[in-house]
Amino acid sequence: HAARFREQTPESRSFHDYAASVTPLGVESNVRSFDPYPFYTERAEGSYIYDVDGNEYLDFLLALGPIILGHNHPDVVEAVQEMAETLDVTATPSPISIQFMEKVVEMTPSIETVRMANSGTEATMHALRVARSYTGKEKIAKPEGGYAGAHDYALQSVYADEEALGPADEPNTVPYGTGIPEAVRDTVVPFPFNDKEATEKILRKHADDMAAVIIEPVMFSCGCLKPRDGYHEFLRELTEELGIVLIWDEVMTGFRLGPQSAQGRLDIMPDMTTFAKAAGGGYQVAGFGGKEEIMAEIIPPGKNEGEKWNTSAFHGGTYNGHPIAAAAGLATLEVLDSGGVYEHIDRLGDRLFTGLQEAADDVGIPVNVQHIGSMGQVYMTDHDIHRYRDTWHANEDQFADWWLEAAADGVLFGNPMQGERFFTTLTHTEEEIDDAIEVAEDAFRAVNHE
Ligand code: PMP
Repeated sequence: HAARFREQTPESRSFHDYAASVTPLGVESNVRSFDPYPFYTERAEGSYIYDVDGNEYLDFLLALGPIILGHNHPDVVEAVQEMAETLDVTATPSPISIQFMEKVVEMTPSIETVRMANSGTEATMHALRVARSYTGKEKIAKPEGGYAGAHDYALQSVYADEEALGPADEPNTVPYGTGIPEAVRDTVVPFPFNDKEATEKILRKHADDMAAVIIEPVMFSCGCLKPRDGYHEFLRELTEELGIVLIWDEVMTGFRLGPQSAQGRLDIMPDMTTFAKAAGGGYQVAGFGGKEEIMAEIIPPGKNEGEKWNTSAFHGGTYNGHPIAAAAGLATLEVLDSGGVYEHIDRLGDRLFTGLQEAADDVGIPVNVQHIGSMGQVYMTDHDIHRYRDTWHANEDQFADWWLEAAADGVLFGNPMQGERFFTTLTHTEEEIDDAIEVAEDAFRAVNHE
C-alpha cells in the first residue's frame, strides 16, 4: 500500500536518508516516524500542508491538535509578527502573558489561577508536583492506555500488551520504554477507564498514598474513548471523598471541545486542569491551573532563603509565558471566544466522522468510528470501543495501510497510528469533508479483506 506514496515522494525519500544521519530516525519526535518514511513538510496554509515534493495534503492531522483555526490564521500571524518586532524573551514578566492567562481563567470554569508552561509534558509534570505538595502524598493514578506527556511519571502503562499489563481489573504499572527508574514506577498506579468498580477498588486501596488522579475527560490518547455511565461524575465524587486531587488533562480537549473546554461541555469541575495544543493556535503555549488554594502551593511562604524554596512546590522555566507564544495564544482564544468556531468545527466533525462510518459500512469493512465534536478516530474493528483494551481489537496494520492510501490521494487522516486521532478545523469546508470521505472510501476498499 506504500507504492503510490513512494512514487509521489522521491524528495522526501532522499531527504529522509540525509535527515537520519542528523537525528535518530530522521525525525524530531518519535511519533513522526512511520513506514516507509515520513514526508517532510515545507509549508502550511489554511486546511492544507505541502511537502518537499510539492504534494498537497488536506490536513486533518492538524499538528496533533493545536491547529484549531486553520494554519497561519491571519490574527495569529499578525499577533506573532507584531510581538516578534517588540519583545522576544526577557525572563521578566510581561503584560501579554498575564493577559493570556487572564483569558484562560475567564474561559475555563474550574481554573481560578493558572501558570504557564511550554508543552503538555511540562504542564502535567508541574501539576502532579503541585498536587503532591498540596496533599502531602506521593502516588498518582492514571488510566492505562493514557498518555499525559513524556516525563517519567506519565510514561507508565501507556502502550503495553496484555501479558505485561496483567489483569484488567487491577492492571500492572508498565513503564513505556527504557530509561525510566524503577522508583518512579512504584509511584504510579494505573486503573481501567470506564470501569467504575475496578477504578473504585484501586483508588480506595491506595487512597492514603494517592496525591492525584490525572485523566483525560475523553481519552483521545488512545483514539477516542468516550466516558460512559456517569464515569466522570463517579470519579469526581470518589476523589473528593478520598482527598485525591482530580487533574483533568485537557491538553487535547482544552479549548477544542468548546470555549469552556471539556469541563464545560461535560459540566464536571476538576480540581486542576492542564492545557496546551489548541490554546496556542500553533505556538508553544501550555499551562496548568485550578483551585487557588491548590495553586498556592507554588507560593513560598517563608521569608528566609532556605525556607523560601523548601516549603513550596517549585515551578519555573525560562520560556514560560514567552511573549510571542502568549500573543499567539491570546489571539487564538479571542477568535475562539468570539462565537461560531465550535459550531463550525463540530458540525464538520459530525459530517466527517459519520460520513467515514457510512463509507466503511458501504464498503463492508469492519470499522468503528468514534467521535465527539471536532475530534475522533477510525478503529479498524467492529468491536465495541469503550475501554483501552477494546482498542486491541483494532487492526493496526490495516489502519496504517488505509492511512497511506488516503495520504497518496492527498488526505491526511491524522497520522498512521491506530492510537491517535484527527480533527476538523475552522478553515475546512463541507466540500472538503465530502471529498475526504470519498478518498477514505476508496482507501477502505483498497485495504478490505486482508
Ligand atoms: N496530555 C495529553 C492528553 C496529550 O495528548 C499530550 C500530547 N499528545 C500530552 C499530554 C503531552 O503534550 P506535549 O506533546 O505538548 O508535551
